[in-house]
Amino acid sequence: MRLREIHIYKHDLPVKNGPYTMANTKVWSLDTTLVRLVAEDGTEGWGETCPVGSTYAEAHAEGARAALNVMAPGLIGAELWPLVLQRKMGSLLNGHNYAKAAIDIAAHDLIGKRLGVSVAELLGGVVVDRVPTYYSTIVGDPDETARIAAEVRDMGYPRIQVKVGGRPVETDIETIHKVWDVIRSSDMRMAVDANRGWNTRDALRVSRECPDIPFIMEQPCNTVEDLRKIRPQVSRGIYMDESGIDLNAAITAIGTGLVDGFGMKITRIGGLQNMRTFRDICEARNLPHTCDDAWGGDVIAAACTQIAATMRPDLCEGAWVAASYIEGNFDPENGIRIEGGHIRRPTGPGLGIRPDEALFGAPIASF
Ligand SMILES: [Mg+2]
Repeated sequence: MRLREIHIYKHDLPVKNGPYTMANTKVWSLDTTLVRLVAEDGTEGWGETCPVGSTYAEAHAEGARAALNVMAPGLIGAELWPLVLQRKMGSLLNGHNYAKAAIDIAAHDLIGKRLGVSVAELLGGVVVDRVPTYYSTIVGDPDETARIAAEVRDMGYPRIQVKVGGRPVETDIETIHKVWDVIRSSDMRMAVDANRGWNTRDALRVSRECPDIPFIMEQPCNTVEDLRKIRPQVSRGIYMDESGIDLNAAITAIGTGLVDGFGMKITRIGGLQNMRTFRDICEARNLPHTCDDAWGGDVIAAACTQIAATMRPDLCEGAWVAASYIEGNFDPENGIRIEGGHIRRPTGPGLGIRPDEALFGAPIASF
């Protein structure tokens, strides 16, 4: 099955009730990049990549499109099977996983549609058809964050991720205590995500001053060296997110026992082919992880849902998708929606969705 055409689209996703605020980033609207692949028999597949602004990671929207423009001419005529395609992309461009992920996701969608099976089936098989997600707050006022925590607890979310960092650490500590007060009698699990925003002093202080609150600490500090430094002094689970820049970084962290789990992004690790490898390595070591992306519309959300549906349920920390912060869907019928803190997996072939191409206008590049 060979690739005949690549079309690249640019589309704006305004943040509902924006901005979305993290320790180092504040965004009002996201610039997403979509790709449509067409195989030689006319079967189509969609992919997407959407860095959350230009300071969250070493990725930005214009960079994704530049990388796609570099690779695209060399990909025409290439085999679409995911492993072969990953190697082909590697032969055309070093790095830029987040751009390669869009092609990889589209290839999975296309192959699924051609074979009449879902992407979850291509990735090993469906374990659950209702995938857990988690609610991610923004860095906000402690009382308002606690109010939201109570609201999403009542909506049935199995997990809340409280964003912190980028402000006095005392406010973060107050927020953690107030959120815990409203969820302690429920089953909702709690993660505290500083998105690299604390220094080691602040991370250690938070851990000390919240001794009885059972949250995991997600990417508290900026570097792997910082994580290594706080690790022996923190008596709670530490998850890696942004420092897990690729499979190699994740494998090193797993092999050295640096972390107890991961927040993992499909585009950061280079697409579904690499994500399934990561999933299997984590399963071999009993490490929980998420199947997320940083941002994006229905295509990314469907990809997260499809792979999360293949995970061992006790290791699945959920598929975070940006749906709560986006108006509308690319696919009005089968688009991704969160209901009761869970996502019903679209069961059609491929990703299970068909984006309305008219939303994106004319392609900005075609090969
Ligand atoms: Mg995170």
